[in-house]
Amino acid sequence: MLIDTHCHLTYDFSSIGGMDAVINRAMAAGVGIMICPTADPEDIERTVHLVNQRKNIFATIGIHPEHAGVNPDDFITDDILENPRVLGVGEIGLDYHEMETNTRDAQIELFERQLEMATHHNLPVAIHTRDAEDDTANILSKYDVRGVMHCFTSGYGLAKKMLDCGFFFSASGILTFKNAGDIRETFARIPLDRLVVETDSPYCAPVPYRGKVCEPAYVVETAKVLADIKNIPFEKLCDIVMENVRVLYPKIEF
Ligand SMILES: [Zn+2]
Repeated sequence: MLIDTHCHLTYDFSSIGGMDAVINRAMAAGVGIMICPTADPEDIERTVHLVNQRKNIFATIGIHPEHAGVNPDDFITDDILENPRVLGVGEIGLDYHEMETNTRDAQIELFERQLEMATHHNLPVAIHTRDAEDDTANILSKYDVRGVMHCFTSGYGLAKKMLDCGFFFSASGILTFKNAGDIRETFARIPLDRLVVETDSPYCAPVPYRGKVCEPAYVVETAKVLADIKNIPFEKLCDIVMENVRVLYPKIEF
């Protein structure tokens, strides 16, 4: 069995048959468990409802930096974070890639408040970082938190810092891209007991599905490439990922 540790299941999948069909195809492909993060505060209620209904789907709850300026306390309650189906706080972080002028401070404020929530509830975090590596590493080092660097595409420099902080690293479909040799080299250097896989569905579909709407079933393709990089059989890689997820998200039950 395999797990997709990061797929946005509240996305509108109507163009590919709807969410139920997407979940069924994942299970048929051996992807028995899915973790659905939130990014948009408007998705939080729907996501909590989804994971309360579905035994094999769990959530992480957080607000993405693109929504900097909103107050997370208006959306993320203690009740939500104490829900047994909510495994962590995410996706949260910093994104300076297409930053509007002056959102840096607001992004940091949103990020830090959610890190406080995670520390208060002793929950792991799922981190998004893009063109903001130094700020991300500096801020995370101030908090007593662990978690996962989601859709990790940074170099070994940031990987080393975050390894020392006890973080995990999630490989997405980008790992399979022809021009992603640097990322494959970074993953080759990260120890096996710190690796998990994700689709970031509906984004970043792996080869051979590149350009399509990405769905959790495709995480198999990323896991195959990761097994090759690590020079171990696919089944072994899957077993290791499942064990790593138990360490990363202690609340998960499967
Ligand atoms: Zn995401």
